[in-house]
Amino acid sequence: FAVDKIRNFSIIAHIDHGKSTLADRLLEITGAIVKTDRNKQVLDKLQVERERGITVKAQTASLFYRHRGQTYLLNLIDTPGHVDFSYEVSRSISACQGVLLVVDANQGIQAQTVANFYLAFEAQLTIIPVINKIDLKNADPERVESQIEKVFDIPREECIRISAKLGTNVDQVLQEVVKRIPHPAVSKADAFRALVFDSTFDHYRGVVANIALFGGQVAKGDKIVSAHLGKTYEVNELGILTPDEHPRDRLYAGQVGYVVAGMKEVKEAQVGDTLYHQNKPVEALPGFKPAKAMVFAGMYPMDQSEYSGLRSAVEKLTLNDSSVTVQRDSSLALGAGWRLGFLGLLHMEVFNQRLEQEYNASVIVTSPTVPYKAVLCSAKLMKNRRAVQKNMVYIDDQRVMMKYLFPLNEVVVDFYDQLKSLSSGYASFDYEDAGYQPADLIKMDFLLNGRPVEELTTIVHKDRAYSTGKFMCERLKDSIPRQMFEIAVQAAIGSKIIARETIKAYRKNVLAKCYGGDVTRKMKLLKKQAEGKKKMRRIGNVDVPKDAFINVLKRK
Ligand code: GDP
Ligand code: MG
Repeated sequence: FAVDKIRNFSIIAHIDHGKSTLADRLLEITGAIVKTDRNKQVLDKLQVERERGITVKAQTASLFYRHRGQTYLLNLIDTPGHVDFSYEVSRSISACQGVLLVVDANQGIQAQTVANFYLAFEAQLTIIPVINKIDLKNADPERVESQIEKVFDIPREECIRISAKLGTNVDQVLQEVVKRIPHPAVSKADAFRALVFDSTFDHYRGVVANIALFGGQVAKGDKIVSAHLGKTYEVNELGILTPDEHPRDRLYAGQVGYVVAGMKEVKEAQVGDTLYHQNKPVEALPGFKPAKAMVFAGMYPMDQSEYSGLRSAVEKLTLNDSSVTVQRDSSLALGAGWRLGFLGLLHMEVFNQRLEQEYNASVIVTSPTVPYKAVLCSAKLMKNRRAVQKNMVYIDDQRVMMKYLFPLNEVVVDFYDQLKSLSSGYASFDYEDAGYQPADLIKMDFLLNGRPVEELTTIVHKDRAYSTGKFMCERLKDSIPRQMFEIAVQAAIGSKIIARETIKAYRKNVLAKCYGGDVTRKMKLLKKQAEGKKKMRRIGNVDVPKDAFINVLKRK
């Protein structure tokens, strides 16, 4: 393919505005997939994606499109819409020269429309605004065009009105891709240079790296080097994605495809890395910021005997999602496990769901926490505000865009759900990291009859101490069985008690049921009670069943 017949583009949008549906129509029109039932969202391959109707992993498809007697190679890279996965968006964008910015004709510009627009704008890509769902009864493309003009400074004449569902004007979208998006400025004659923009792991072949060729060509049998580690590999297989893998003998500058080169770990094909030919080093392409974990949670096997099985599942899954950070951890209550770092709450849920669905693992996930940096000082005289408004812009008479500085801890738990319900689903939300800020945080201990329970010690904001303390004490009370004496369950900050619950004394007489004199049955029951005790952890004079820790530590 001549370079001037190649277009590399992405579709970006707020969640549910119709990216995947549009991608399906583009694939159908170009014959990459057979037109059958609509809305099956071919690029959403994972089960979790289909179930939740979200895109998690960016996928790539090479399309062949006839336009004015010429065949064009259009490389489409699908992107996720949710904030948690915006690092996937920036990866995809780095391999493109243009984007389709899809906006729902009814909902108009939303938080991720803005966030994704800026990712593309900063990368200096051609942006084609596409107004989707014009078939809807309440569609108001006029108003959305005004918003686009006002917020993004793009003339309304540049907008294309479509219905991805019905296929209306979708062919026009492809024509505009050819007309407006520049071909990649690369040459086959240059030295081979490719950007790794994604990688996955396959049991048989090892790492499968998705690459965009920024120069030269590469063939099967070539010796290539990864700039990051300086290791040399031999290319075993390469090809294009349509979106299924189609092996080829050679890939050329401007193309997007995959390469398998005997890499055994995803670390060897780091996203953002540059590949080149052995003995022909090139300047590395600008990589991207590594994905940064924002939310941490403990993950433990339901039963310690399942530890090694779960470990291999976690390892395999992190091979396919390098944005998850893994640290071994152990808890007195829950045994050996891991502390995993995620990009956000949805990312964590998706990971958990994939562990269960794809690896059949059952796990205990603890409540998520966010990273804090502790600084020791005599007085923190900081005036503390939990949210600070930064600015406010009216998009039109019905919509306003507000920026706030928030502690991440307030955002990770259920902020998104609350925002959605308070605004009846109208508000949308996006965030980026604003760095560490000083805050009034305190360490809170939980006591059983005066003895601290180490595994429950937690860090909370001063303003939340009472409510958190009370909540945790109530959960503990409900999960510790009555014992022969009264148990005080307390939350303490230093030596100050801030919440208390009491578990009343109770004598559990297992022999009460044994009428008559059946000795074997009596013995059996006593043995059973002793076994039950083994699963308990003794804190002071209180026996705490493992379930109690699970109930208190895990997410709702
Ligand atoms: P994504 O999250 O951006 O990938 O959005 P999807 O492609 O999954 O679409 C979200 C929902 O909008 C689905 O229920 C689609 O069937 C629906 N949808 C997409 N395009 C259109 C359209 O042109 N018209 C209508 N009425 N619905 C659409
Ligand atoms: Mg989608």
